[in-house]
Amino acid sequence: MDLYEYQAKDLFAKHGVPVGPGQRVVTDVEAAADAAAEFGVPVVIKAQVKVGGRGKAGGVKLADGREDAREKAEAILGLDIKGHTVRRVLVTPASQIAEEYYFSFLLDRTNRTFLAMASAEGGMEIEQLAVERPEALAKIPVDPIAGVDLAKAKEIAAIFPEPVRDAAAEVIVKLWQTFVAEDVTLVEVNPLVRDPQDDILALDGKVTLDDNAGFRHPDHAELVDTAAEDPLEAAAKAKDLNYVKLDGEVGIIGNGAGLVMSTLDVVAYAGEDSGTKPANFLDIGGGASAEVMANGLGIILSDPDVRSVFVNVFGGITACDAVANGIVQAFQLLGTVDKPIVVRLDGNNAALGRQTLTDAALPGLSQVDTMDAAARRAVELAVTQE
Ligand code: GDP
Ligand code: MN
Repeated sequence: MDLYEYQAKDLFAKHGVPVGPGQRVVTDVEAAADAAAEFGVPVVIKAQVKVGGRGKAGGVKLADGREDAREKAEAILGLDIKGHTVRRVLVTPASQIAEEYYFSFLLDRTNRTFLAMASAEGGMEIEQLAVERPEALAKIPVDPIAGVDLAKAKEIAAIFPEPVRDAAAEVIVKLWQTFVAEDVTLVEVNPLVRDPQDDILALDGKVTLDDNAGFRHPDHAELVDTAAEDPLEAAAKAKDLNYVKLDGEVGIIGNGAGLVMSTLDVVAYAGEDSGTKPANFLDIGGGASAEVMANGLGIILSDPDVRSVFVNVFGGITACDAVANGIVQAFQLLGTVDKPIVVRLDGNNAALGRQTLTDAALPGLSQVDTMDAAARRAVELAVTQE
C-alpha cells in the first residue's frame, strides 16, 4: 500500500525524522485558509495524491496569509494530476531551502538486497538523473542483517556536501529505522532539504508499506483510504476473500490461484469473438464452506457489470459435494439470484457434487462438465443477457 505524503510524514515524525514544524490536512478552501492563519507564517499548500510530479503539475504552491492560502487551495483542490483528482491538500509552514537532495531506501529484488540511493541533485526526476548523470546518484547495497548504523549512514551520506554530511547521516539512520520498524518496501525523500542553518529536513515523502506484513501492524489499517478503494474489493477484503475487479462481463469464482488464473484465460479465449471478458474474479481458496461460497457469490453478483457467473471448482481437499452443498446454501442465503450461473465441478467427489446440484434444481444454474465448454456457455449467457 502506498501512503499519501502526509501519512508518510506522520510515520517519519514518529521515528524522529525531521519533517518541519507541523502540518494540517484539509478538504476545503476555508479550512486551508484557517490553517494558514493559525500557522501565522508563509505556508506551502500541497496536493495529496499518490503520484509524483505534483510540483510541475501546479499541485504545490507557496501562500502568504489567509487570503493567499484560500486562493492557492482553490486552484489546487479538484485539480487532475495524472488522472488523480485532488480531494485533500496539506498545509504546512514553508521551509527555507538552501539545497535539495534525493534519498531512498528500497528493496532491490534483482540483487536480492536492500539499496540506498542518494544524490546531492534532488528535486529533479530521479529516473532522468539516473540516465543522464549516473555518477551523481550513489547506489549503496544495504545488508538486511547488518542494517544501517551511523557508520554505514556516513558512507551513504558521503555524496552530500561536507557541512551537512553528519546531519544527513543521522537522518538516514532514522529513515532506516522507519523502514524496518514499519515494514516498508520503499521510502523516498525528494527533496531531502538542506536549510540555511544546515539542518536536514524531509520535505516530501513517499512510502510503500509491505501489505504481507500487515498482521504485524494493526495501526496501519487506518492508513487505508477506503473512499478511494473499490467498494466490492473492500467488502471482499473485510471477509478475507481475494476478489479483484476487472472490466468485462463474466464473473469468475474458482478454488486456488492457479485454477482461477487459467479460468480467466479460458473465458477470455471463449469470449474473443464476441468481445466478452472476465468482469472480476474471486478465489474461494481451499476450504470452500457454504458461508465462503455465499459471501463469494454475493460479492460477484453485486458487481453491476456481471451478466453471467462461472463457478469453476476442482475438488481436492475440499470435495465437490461440499462445494455443491455450499452453492445450494448460498442460494438460500442470498434469496434471489437473478443472473445465470454456470458450474463446472471436477475432481474429488465430482459425481456426488453434480448430483447434489441436479437434485437442488436451482433457478438459473446450469452445469457443464468441462472447463472449456463451461467457459463457452458462460460467455454465451453473458452475450444473451445484454
Ligand atoms: P512533487 O513535485 O510531487 O515531488 O512534490 P514535492 O513535495 O517534492 O514539492 C515540489 C517542490 O516544491 C520541491 O522540490 C520544492 O522545490 C518545492 N517545495 C516544497 N515544499 C517547500 C517548502 O516548504 N518551501 C519551499 N521554498 N519550497 C518547497
Ligand atoms: Mn517530491
